[in-house]
Amino acid sequence: MEELLTGLNESQQQAVMETEGYIRVIAGAGSGKTKALTHRYAFLVNALGIEPSNILCVTFTNKAAHEMRRRVKKLIGGEQDTGFITTYHGFCVRVLREDIHRFFYPKNFVILDVEDQKTLLREIFEDLGLKLNDKTFKRILDKIGMLKGNTHYVNQMITRDAMVPLDDAGDLDSQIIQLYLKKQKRVFGLDFDDLINFTFVLFHKYPKVLGKWQDRLFYIQGDEFQDSNEKQFELMRMLAEKHHNLFVVGDPDQTIYEWRGADPKYMVEFQSFFPDAQTIFLNQNYRSTPEILAVSNSLIKHNVFRVDKEMITENQEGLKVIHYHGKDENEEAKWIVDKIEDLLKKKQASKDEIAILYRANYLSRFIEQALIKENIDYTIFGGFKFFDRMEIKDAIAHLRMIAFGDDLSFARIVNVPKRQIGKKRMQFLRERAEADGLTLYDTLKKYVDHPRLQRTQAQQFIDAIESLRSRKKDNHVSELLQDALQRTGYEAYIREDGDQERLDNLTELLHSIVQYEQTMGEDIELEEYLQMLTLYTDNDLEGKSNTVKLMTIHTAKGLEFPYVFLVGMTESVLPNVRTLRDRKERGLEEERRLAYVGMTRAEKELYLTESEGYQSGGVKKYPSRFIFELDEDAYQRIGILDEELEKEAKEYIKAAYGTDRVANEQGHPKGTKVRHPVFGEGVIEEIDHKKNTYLIYFDNLKAPRPISRN
Ligand code: ATP
Ligand code: MG
Repeated sequence: MEELLTGLNESQQQAVMETEGYIRVIAGAGSGKTKALTHRYAFLVNALGIEPSNILCVTFTNKAAHEMRRRVKKLIGGEQDTGFITTYHGFCVRVLREDIHRFFYPKNFVILDVEDQKTLLREIFEDLGLKLNDKTFKRILDKIGMLKGNTHYVNQMITRDAMVPLDDAGDLDSQIIQLYLKKQKRVFGLDFDDLINFTFVLFHKYPKVLGKWQDRLFYIQGDEFQDSNEKQFELMRMLAEKHHNLFVVGDPDQTIYEWRGADPKYMVEFQSFFPDAQTIFLNQNYRSTPEILAVSNSLIKHNVFRVDKEMITENQEGLKVIHYHGKDENEEAKWIVDKIEDLLKKKQASKDEIAILYRANYLSRFIEQALIKENIDYTIFGGFKFFDRMEIKDAIAHLRMIAFGDDLSFARIVNVPKRQIGKKRMQFLRERAEADGLTLYDTLKKYVDHPRLQRTQAQQFIDAIESLRSRKKDNHVSELLQDALQRTGYEAYIREDGDQERLDNLTELLHSIVQYEQTMGEDIELEEYLQMLTLYTDNDLEGKSNTVKLMTIHTAKGLEFPYVFLVGMTESVLPNVRTLRDRKERGLEEERRLAYVGMTRAEKELYLTESEGYQSGGVKKYPSRFIFELDEDAYQRIGILDEELEKEAKEYIKAAYGTDRVANEQGHPKGTKVRHPVFGEGVIEEIDHKKNTYLIYFDNLKAPRPISRN
């Protein structure tokens, strides 16, 4: 127990030992929130004797959940099942696996990713004789997303009988969506939205099920709580209703998912939801040098909608933060790579300690080229669509055939390699399947001797799948996959293709499964593995060790690296162009928080880079307004930013959607001549957004006076 508390400051210790009731920890980046949370978990287990299966601990990404699990296991010993350290989606899968049969779904339902959704839609479009292009696809998916914004539609899907699409569902789009839901139900597929929605409906329709979970979860903890949306918050609130032990940590300055419905009010107004809640503040930063902290703070202070937090640090002084300005993209990339080589050689840094962060995935490209040229190994998180690759999807489809035998996987691999089951025969199978109410695979088994299926290799396919199924229980997932790829001839098919990269990817997949089996340290059922896998996004791949890490700022949330390059800091990239177009102050503030999250990932050295030139679309590039907002004493500039360009940039920013513009819209801009009933004539010198005052020089007074803006 002692061990869990040493190394924590007093407030952190309080957070660990106050185990009962509703508690929130509000604190800035790098102040040890996540550390307090993991130690608290271990304290509950080691000191209070609580079973890990009675503690729910949620985070937002699988990567974060993984990392937390690893840290907790270090503290409590590796043997215990920490399955409830998970994401919101992961938790919903656990709930549904136990009780989705009440909705007439099998517990081995399939989780659909975007590719699967596309496949279902493609079939519908084919059936209707329509063409599906990217634009239509996106439109329909958006509409489906909108429909799934609330839970009404779920009722239509959970009846015992096959779903009947509404006849006069209105326009063509709505009809397509109805058909889509029907198909979804046929394959027992749930997409990410469904996971949460089905769980909600399950809890509402079956209070006993909710009660079971409420009973079970004595303690509930949440990291990064500032990014909770309404459903996620509601889920936590509901689950905590029995034992009233909810512990959340977060930093409102790091809310970066407002665009997806996150609302910091659940953190900020925690007390209004739970009146006897306690609040703990942490004010010491342990992550970064004073220089990095100063620069980050000078940026976030420009947000109006925020509560100021004074952060201190006792960390040693380090190097000044650097802003590099290049003449073009190549120069920027070259400077970054040179700097990295410097770090590796002169400072004996390891590549693992270096991260390159950016606003959007496409920005990785220009850096990548430079890294390749200099032979520096790197890993990209996100953007690198490992699980979207054809061979990976095919391999997973084999596993899904063994586990679920779902139509999607069947259609994907039944004719790969060629088994003479082409379009016409598939059509035949589909018709029979519809008529007999069977899956495509069961239909194939039933009609394998039918004249229409003669001269196909259907029987071999069936034999392979059946034999694998019979061994499912006694084999590891990795062994099953290896066998599946061999027995079905898939591996040979890829080998013949001669594409080494594909073979390497298959090996990489096997390797990742073995790794997963090892870190979990438990026997994993195939079904469970598959469901978890679909929840994974590319962001969660562990990545090769000893490589420079490239990722978006969103992905870097909660992480830390000794050396950070925040690149492509160009106006209309960060803040991004959409935000500027919308002219919403809140959007701009979210972009500023994003920059803040990026900067506060750095422990020892921070580099902000951007360059001149033109963006695609012919827009001239200027340094981001966020660069100009930084405290000038707090950073050093390398590279020449011409006075002329700087002036132009500032005008551009002002015209686009400048901070002065904000003042304009809400009152008077700086420099406006004003007249006060008592003090007479004056000029607005400064605007203090936080206090909502003007600082005005009155001709009759010696010193400026703050005057309320109202
Ligand atoms: P973020 O807001 O970015 O998620 P956080 O508040 O969760 O940050 P942590 O990641 O928990 O911060 O901690 C930041 C770093 O400080 C970690 O390396 C952690 O080990 C270290 N740290 C936390 N608390 C202490 C402490 N009391 N003494 C020494 N180091 C600490
Ligand atoms: Mg954290």
